[in-house]
Amino acid sequence: MTERHDDGPRRPGQVKEITSLANPIIKDIKALSQKKNREAGGLFMAEGLKLVLDALETGWKIDTLIFAKSAKDKPLVEKAASRAVAAGGLVLEVSEKVLSSVTRRDNPQMVVGIFHARWTSLSAIKPKAGETWVALDRVRDPGNLGTIIRTADAAGASGVILVGETTDPYGLETVRATMGSIFTMPVARASQADFLKWRKTSGASLIATHLKGAIDYRRADYKARPVVLLMGNEQSGIPDELAEAADVRVKIPQQGKADSLNLACATAVMLFEARRHLLELDA
Ligand code: SAM
Repeated sequence: MTERHDDGPRRPGQVKEITSLANPIIKDIKALSQKKNREAGGLFMAEGLKLVLDALETGWKIDTLIFAKSAKDKPLVEKAASRAVAAGGLVLEVSEKVLSSVTRRDNPQMVVGIFHARWTSLSAIKPKAGETWVALDRVRDPGNLGTIIRTADAAGASGVILVGETTDPYGLETVRATMGSIFTMPVARASQADFLKWRKTSGASLIATHLKGAIDYRRADYKARPVVLLMGNEQSGIPDELAEAADVRVKIPQQGKADSLNLACATAVMLFEARRHLLELDA
């Protein structure tokens, strides 16, 4: 591996050993648990050796790679460290205590990457035939958002559009729940007004899920045009203005006493129905 330095200032392209929780570099990394600090630096944290290696291999820009002194699988850790150094990133070899503190976990992953966040601009999204996009109105729950990004990836969707004030896709809990799909799914964000403007020229069919939906979700046409599935906020569902702008409002029929499905579950049901004609098991 590259040359090592203890403490001292942050110098990209080198490996540094840190054992103190009071180290200012560690303090800056811990500050990424707050959205305002993630936004200010445009950075986020992802945990796990495989996930970090995959991200590096697919061209995500790394700021800092952190690994535990006690990490197993040393050849792969060294590979990740060399890539990070080559990309001009900082590499930190730390104690498990430091990793626990950075990841806020008792049993932390042995490798963590701090990456530069990537936002897709809504105006750059031009849905094509066979594409499905998921639009989420004011999603609040990080676990729901992460699960939806992962499910959208698994269903072959093209990306996720966050409408209005939403939870941050680059929050630690959300990134964890994506299980790596944060690195493969484009994510855009827009105000409700900009989303409505965009949809007029997008050429896509806007299919809103609504508990008062008149049509069974299995009867909607998912083939004629690219599809944007619009899902509502966990507490209040989709506001009237968005619901009225949709081409069609659909409902997943329910039995039993539950008022509604969990947002991530409803999104999964919709995604796999919308893409049913495009999904096949390999023969
Ligand atoms: N009280 C909210 C309401 O009245 O809409 C419930 C919101 S529900 C927990 C969150 C979102 O999941 C909904 O806005 C909708 O997008 C989707 N959803 C949940 N159950 C659904 C169903 N049976 N049919 C269609 N969409 C559903």
